[in-house]
Amino acid sequence: MPQVLDPKLKRQLIERIRFYNDLGIYDFYRRPLAAEEASAGDPEPQKEITQTMAMAAAEEGMFAAAEPEASVMDPVKALRIIREDLGDCTRCLLHKQGRKQIVFGVGNPKAELMFIGEAPGADEDVQGEPFVGRAGQLLNNMIKAMGLRREEVYIANIIKCRPPGNRTPEREECETCSPFLMRQIAVIKPKVMVALGAVAAKTLLAVNAPMAELRGRWYDFRGTKLAVTYHPAFLLRDPRQKKEAWKDLQRVMKELALPIPARDGEQAG
Ligand code: URA
Repeated sequence: MPQVLDPKLKRQLIERIRFYNDLGIYDFYRRPLAAEEASAGDPEPQKEITQTMAMAAAEEGMFAAAEPEASVMDPVKALRIIREDLGDCTRCLLHKQGRKQIVFGVGNPKAELMFIGEAPGADEDVQGEPFVGRAGQLLNNMIKAMGLRREEVYIANIIKCRPPGNRTPEREECETCSPFLMRQIAVIKPKVMVALGAVAAKTLLAVNAPMAELRGRWYDFRGTKLAVTYHPAFLLRDPRQKKEAWKDLQRVMKELALPIPARDGEQAG
């Protein structure tokens, strides 16, 4: 039986959705219920809230409004709109925990290949560009070994601000920031995405599995092929794994119909 929303609740929900849209948030995710939450009285309170928000938005035709860049054909302009939407972001606490600047992403707005790392480090925070430090040098070598130039691919991170002391990003930071990455991906429309390391892989795939399980297969990420490989910073700590990473990259090259160099078996150093 169709549900009718209480008009007052509907208005409040629409205001709330508009507020989130103003913050640049368009995608709403429902967290799986914690066991104690699920067993406490109301069987699925979060589900009901999300469904009610969806009903309010649908009634208002708000899903059709989507992201402001959705109707912009030029990816350069579309990415600029997303960057402007981010502004001098204060959506999570990282803005007052020492970040110098937002590290948006860099590369070809029409790239066939997109690399996604974890978070900016100290060098990236200073230069405003992802992967420019030691891990970045190794990523550059990996890209070169694939027969590509850095400028040909697109590079971004799950979160756009440096966490203090380069700690692992917190779940809430990833959830707050990653919708902007999703919008970048939707604009760039790469043929293949490579998640660098566990944080990128787990955030994009919404799974909690060790790298050993995540590597070595293709995933469908909203219609785009996604591969998982080791983070360059990990490879700097354990260079023996470069051979494995090279296997991952060769799988990507095959998918992109890139020629595999004759020195097959060597790895990018
Ligand atoms: N590590 C990352 O994950 N991203 C960067 O941009 C730099 C280091």
